[in-house]
Amino acid sequence: MTRYFEVLRRDGPARQGKLMLDVPISTPAIISEKDYSFPGSAYDFGSMEEVLASSPISEKTKKPAAEKLAILPYVPSALHVEPPFDLPDHEIEGPKGFVLHPFYIEKPKKADVYVMAGAGSIRNPRDLISAVIGVRAKIPSDTALYAPALATPANLAFLIYLGIDLIDATRVIADTYFGRYHTRDGVKALADFDELPCRCQHCQRLAVESENTQALVGHNVQKLEEELALLREMVRKETIREYVERQVRVTPELTAALRLLDQEHKYLEARAPQYRRSILYANTAESLCRVEVTRFAHRVLERYSAPKSDVLLLLPCSARKPYSKSRSHRFFALAIGSHRRYLHELILTSPLALVPRELEEVYPAANYDVPVIGHWDLEERAWLCRCLDAYLKKNKYTKIIAHLEGELEQTVKEHGIDAAFTGGGTNETALSRLSEAIQDACQGTMRLGDKRVAQYKAVADYYFGSGAGDLLLAGKVKVKGREIQEENGKALAMMTPNGSIALSLTGARRLEPMEKYIVTIGDFLPKGSLLAPGVTDADEQIRPGDEVIIRGEKAFGIGRAKMSGWEMVESTRGVAVELKHIQEI
Ligand SMILES: [Zn+2]
Repeated sequence: MTRYFEVLRRDGPARQGKLMLDVPISTPAIISEKDYSFPGSAYDFGSMEEVLASSPISEKTKKPAAEKLAILPYVPSALHVEPPFDLPDHEIEGPKGFVLHPFYIEKPKKADVYVMAGAGSIRNPRDLISAVIGVRAKIPSDTALYAPALATPANLAFLIYLGIDLIDATRVIADTYFGRYHTRDGVKALADFDELPCRCQHCQRLAVESENTQALVGHNVQKLEEELALLREMVRKETIREYVERQVRVTPELTAALRLLDQEHKYLEARAPQYRRSILYANTAESLCRVEVTRFAHRVLERYSAPKSDVLLLLPCSARKPYSKSRSHRFFALAIGSHRRYLHELILTSPLALVPRELEEVYPAANYDVPVIGHWDLEERAWLCRCLDAYLKKNKYTKIIAHLEGELEQTVKEHGIDAAFTGGGTNETALSRLSEAIQDACQGTMRLGDKRVAQYKAVADYYFGSGAGDLLLAGKVKVKGREIQEENGKALAMMTPNGSIALSLTGARRLEPMEKYIVTIGDFLPKGSLLAPGVTDADEQIRPGDEVIIRGEKAFGIGRAKMSGWEMVESTRGVAVELKHIQEI
């Protein structure tokens, strides 16, 4: 039970939270000795009796002095060495910290904050990642993780992105005694600068008295604080991933660390939201590994099935999203004309690979941007071809038209896709080539069903799993504006402006038999927000931003998840679901 820490916001593994000390601390935060009491290492005491008698709590009140974070004494050991003995637990009336050895955790004692022992001595990125992921797997998600003596302005973005909530200025202060000057770009000897790149008050002093250690401390700490403030804003604006991809470029070690972290797909996927308010910038090689990208591609191949069609039209993406709104796609639409009912459209793009027309409004298909120079590198080509093969294995067509140009056309051609290649383009000749190829291919082919109904089916399958569309749209349905209704006019679902689906209670009842995306609650009728302690069970695959069905003995309803399903189950604080409709039963 965490009484003194709450996660308020998430952006992937990065979190914003509140540590409720006398003066509450908003995390991620830099903490110092004024925020905690810590008797230190068991070896600093004369005897075991003294260790056991040492308690950060006051004898009289049984409470820690001034509601500081009370960190229990610990037994030190080297990073990969098991500590020789364990200390008994202390019950504390107040915020409690517990030091754990990242590579030797059995069952950590209950605490609000976990302190990673030896964090400052971790040099290898593999160790850092496995330490944090290992610790996170053992401690409840609604507890804070403190990594002492590790943070610098250059690595802070990565640490916060990795899931660390609390850091300190120990490292940058210690470095001042060796004349080391920190910036977001890394650390250098102060003596090596011809001109200081910072204009802070401390640097103005350093410019005239370069030996002034206090001024160097002031500068180093200020840079750490500035970086932290920037990162908090990034988490708030849901743009931390873009920032981390950019920031890790300052050293090969940090870039390697991000690449290694991206291999920990399970850890990242379990924390990746369904939707971000920000534009996904695919500016780097690492963008190809982002969970949002692989999740989208995976769902297109696994959950989505294309409407039955004889003809497939392959089109390139456009800078403007959704593609339909772009100039090039409006031209394509004119060239396709009335044949639209006789073919299915698939857009080829990097890094998402394949975007079926029905899913073009879904995140991140409608929310990404990528530097386009017409060049497709080997990795992008391989990824696209792999996805295309899997797609064509599942969805069969008799004819394929590829209106692609340049290296994209070359990639698809060289991969051996059997298609009519029209050379792409949007000028008059190009578009008439497209029209002719379509007329030719669509002769005597089957007519497709209502495109708008197909879009609801595809989006429902995308969000709730294969088969959801058929359940939601069973029987006679009609589309009215952005809503899909039963024949009698009763709403089933609505397409939201961010491309996801909002269910009505009737729609939710139709999906309920799938037993997916369900949050089970206790014997009560929730109002406004559903808090984590009220959740008795939740579908493991729920992610922040998902539309979920709430089911309990007294209530049935719909809401938007604020945390992942596994987190709802293990958390004792925080909003699990924002309710939208709730019905007493
Ligand atoms: Zn400065």
